[in-house]
Amino acid sequence: MFELNKLTRENIKKLTPYSSARDEFSGEAKVFLDANENAIGSPVTKWYNRYPDPHQVKLKEAISQVKSVPANQIFLGNGSDECIDLLYRCFCEPGKSNVIICPPTYGMYEVSANINDVEIRKAALLDDFQLDLVHLENLVDENTRLIWICSPNNPTGNSFTRTDVEMVLNNFNSIVVVDEAYINFSRQKSFIQELVDYPNLVVMQTFSKAWGLAGLRLGMAFASPGIIDVLNKVKPPYNINQATQEIALKALEEVGQVNDMIKELVQMRAALKGVFEKIPFIEKVYPSDANFLLVKMKDARKVYEFLLTKGIVVRDRSNVKLCDDCLRITVGTEEENTELIEALCDWMVK
Ligand SMILES: *Cc1c(COP(=O)(O)O)cnc(C)c1O
Repeated sequence: MFELNKLTRENIKKLTPYSSARDEFSGEAKVFLDANENAIGSPVTKWYNRYPDPHQVKLKEAISQVKSVPANQIFLGNGSDECIDLLYRCFCEPGKSNVIICPPTYGMYEVSANINDVEIRKAALLDDFQLDLVHLENLVDENTRLIWICSPNNPTGNSFTRTDVEMVLNNFNSIVVVDEAYINFSRQKSFIQELVDYPNLVVMQTFSKAWGLAGLRLGMAFASPGIIDVLNKVKPPYNINQATQEIALKALEEVGQVNDMIKELVQMRAALKGVFEKIPFIEKVYPSDANFLLVKMKDARKVYEFLLTKGIVVRDRSNVKLCDDCLRITVGTEEENTELIEALCDWMVK
């Protein structure tokens, strides 16, 4: 049985959250003299002299519409990275709890664990980059609080078999976080619709990838109202700034444009894969459900350095277990992709 109360840290359960000026009075008024803002303005713009809505009510309503999730099941963070950190701070006892990751995967799960003094246990992926359920099961004990599942996975690019993820959700009482940063580039269905069936599920998505707003820092976590309440209690009161709330709201009105960009990026991913596969020194292009390709090649490190001399930066993953001799290459614009291909051809004839 999943018991949220048992997983939540004692100090968090007892915590009285900070009550901001905007909490103690919310509503219509003519004159706001309660938050020590500069009522005259700022040198650059008239609009940002007031504190933002700490609960992001409008933004959550818009996200609720687009994602078909009730607003009380949405948490917003300063990037997914803040959601990751808060999950540790709310549910993991430093020096006592442990969490499970499935490497090779996103680096922040481990960094954030280390910052919070939480033990990391690793169930490495199988050779086909799928979950090793037997290993995972062996690692779980009564102190396991979080299981991190990144699907589509970074840096491998593949999605995990849905029934495997369901197996994890069904068999463990710890919180299972499914990080869907790349879900929009995948043919797989999101796990958001499964929230009704799994009280232990947290789904993370972000505005940094498909929405094209990495610079704003806006991450989303979807979960039961109970889990969301705990996260809200601990977050800094004004973690989502006013500009971010406004711009994200505008973006949410343009879902059509975003879907067009996703289609274009997915087409370019396929085209790029086709070209890569014709290049002799490239040994393998892994199937991708994301906006990047993991590419195995001869002398990956040297290719990486050569690309740098051409002013092109990709991600060197050649020292990562299971990714040896691999570069992770983000799908760029048409022009950028062409430039990359030309550089790879230059390397070939060098
Ligand atoms: C890029 C990425 C994120 C996004 O993080 P933000 O802090 O929202 O920018 C989350 N998870 C994974 C696996 C990623 O690759």
